[in-house]
Amino acid sequence: MDKKKALEEKIRFQVECEKTAHLTVQRLLDNPVTEDFLIDSGRLIKPEHYDDVIEERAISHQCGYPVCPNSLANNFCSNECYNASNYYKSQLSTSPLWMRKNQKIPTLMLLSKPEARYV
Ligand SMILES: [Zn+2]
Repeated sequence: MDKKKALEEKIRFQVECEKTAHLTVQRLLDNPVTEDFLIDSGRLIKPEHYDDVIEERAISHQCGYPVCPNSLANNFCSNECYNASNYYKSQLSTSPLWMRKNQKIPTLMLLSKPEARYV
């Protein structure tokens, strides 16, 4: 493959990764998402994307932690969710999405799932 073609290929892949990340952000706005999906999502997004998720969920009055079914007025329904969310985010890789293809990314860990509460 000549140089120009290789570069085009690389850019196309980068764009594709960003698209996937944005689709993942969209799906993390569903309430609630499964723990498996949240774990899988970690490979596809960066901490900035996760910040978008928290922000978007807050706008629609959903707890910022995607596996939590509670709705609320603040960003998180409880300290438990706030901590679980920070724990998840701290594990998100900051390496460029397009460089992850051949990288082994460790499986993300979640804190125990919050209970739905009806206030
Ligand atoms: Zn919550």
